Amino acid sequence: MDVLLYTSITLFTVAGMEFVAWAAHKYLMHGLLWVWHEDHHRPHHDKEGFFEKNDLFFLVFAIPSAAAYIIGLNVSGWFWLTFVGIGISIYGAIYFLIHDVYIHRRFSWFKQLDGSYSRGILRAHGHHHAVTEKDGAESFGLLVVAKKYFGKRSDWSNSPTTKT
Ligand SMILES: [Zn+2]
Ligand SMILES: [Zn+2]
Repeated sequence: MDVLLYTSITLFTVAGMEFVAWAAHKYLMHGLLWVWHEDHHRPHHDKEGFFEKNDLFFLVFAIPSAAAYIIGLNVSGWFWLTFVGIGISIYGAIYFLIHDVYIHRRFSWFKQLDGSYSRGILRAHGHHHAVTEKDGAESFGLLVVAKKYFGKRSDWSNSPTTKT
């Protein structure tokens, strides 16, 4: 059943990308590549124009995705890799819709969502942005966030990060 296999590879890649994005955000974007991520942590009025340097990360993640399509579609025996490419593309689209459109409202495509899950991930990412420096931020994931963000405000807003 190839359909089942390829669907599984795609879904597994989408899920795995949340982990990859978490690790890249925590160790690269708040590490060596902070110069590209820094403007995303600055208040909006400091920015000029629509794009941020942080948007370069979409191009960075397009590289493994493009490589997976090229190898998957051209090298015999590696067709499965095409679905890894599709999974990375789907995660990129989800990331754009949730992070850029829903959370940061770069486009007003959605009304305010009012589910407990959408509120939880919004709070978690808002808490990530409470820190404008390279160090000291928490909550680096987008779709998988700590359970405390789904609870009472007092469960998470008193943490050391928001006091500083
Ligand atoms: Zn960050
Ligand atoms: Zn953000």
